Amino acid sequence: MPSIFSRIISGEIPGQIVYRDELVTAFRDINPLAPVHILIVPNTEIATVDDVEAAHEAAMGRMFTAARQIARDLGISESGYRLIVNVKDDGGQEVYHVHMHLLGGKKLGRMLSSE
Ligand code: AMP
Repeated sequence: MPSIFSRIISGEIPGQIVYRDELVTAFRDINPLAPVHILIVPNTEIATVDDVEAAHEAAMGRMFTAARQIARDLGISESGYRLIVNVKDDGGQEVYHVHMHLLGGKKLGRMLSSE
């Protein structure tokens, strides 16, 4: 069964898409944790970073160049931003289709709490 992100990419379910090319698609997170919260997703379904192979390197690299472009488009390239990729259970991954969170538009504080 396609992931929820594949269904957004295919247009089966709605998403607020901000960027799309032949390798990746980016859309607004439904539950934003910052004024800017975008998910950048490879168009090919890859469950986790632990499943990434050499054949995926172009899409993985494109996630970064897309992040740079989106940050510029949304006006946060000068103020700065954070990119997060959660992996599996301890990493807090909820959707098993690789994705990069692009967060910004405010000071994000420390990377992790010390809990
Ligand atoms: P993660 O915990 O890294 O797997 O993050 C999954 C993210 O997907 C969360 O921030 C959710 O808010 C977001 N999300 C889940 N469903 C949707 C959806 N239909 N549209 C946009 N974002 C979603």
